Amino acid sequence: MPASSPRISILMYHQVGRFNNPRIHRPMYCDVGRFRRQMAWLHWCGYNVISLNDAYACLFMGRPVPRRAVVLTFDDGCENFREYAWPILKAYRFPASVFLVADLIGHETRWVTDIPEKAPLMTGETIRSLHKEGVMFGAHTLNHVYLTRCTPDEARREIVESKSRLEDLLGETVSDFCYPYGDYNAQVAEMVRDAGFRCGLTCIRAAANYAKNPFELPRKAISYGDTLVGYLWKLHAKNVPKGEKPPARVATDGFA
Ligand SMILES: [Zn+2]
Repeated sequence: MPASSPRISILMYHQVGRFNNPRIHRPMYCDVGRFRRQMAWLHWCGYNVISLNDAYACLFMGRPVPRRAVVLTFDDGCENFREYAWPILKAYRFPASVFLVADLIGHETRWVTDIPEKAPLMTGETIRSLHKEGVMFGAHTLNHVYLTRCTPDEARREIVESKSRLEDLLGETVSDFCYPYGDYNAQVAEMVRDAGFRCGLTCIRAAANYAKNPFELPRKAISYGDTLVGYLWKLHAKNVPKGEKPPARVATDGFA
């Protein structure tokens, strides 16, 4: 889609809850009070919070993009999503996609090795009940690995089996994939496509309109330190990937 079309910002969250001012990994945390204000702000300012499904249709199937379009994604599938984020999302009827680490369902974030605290991950039962309530789920490998550091066979297994494992759990096709750490290359992206996923979400900071293809979808990380001003800035700036020029014709859709 032309980069000058109304922009779609895909926001990346991890954990939502109450945290003691984390010193490192700050993009992994969002205080629930801040999260509530961010969602209220999206609501009151007339943002269109759309599903990843709808964003895909806009980006790659020619569906018109609504004004101020935002997609909410949550990586890793931490248990605190159910407790803190989902009740707020439900109150606003905002759709959300959660990316699960398929071999660690019901365990904890054991791949985070440089801090002692590990976060519990949702159980299969929680996932199935949230799915019934409308939460969408995608795959985030089996073990939260750096895919470009795996052998090709390992990487393929992490991708292919995460899909089948989650499809068995949910009883439906799982179409969306998210690269752990945003780590991918052309070979990994091809494996994701060959596994039958329709898209791959990265950590490239830009509007989703700048996707070079469905397997390189940019996202904007929301961090613990983001005030509403910082949040606003991320929505309205960070739209062009590093090193690229914005399109000559400026979007005419006002804010977004
Ligand atoms: Zn992750």
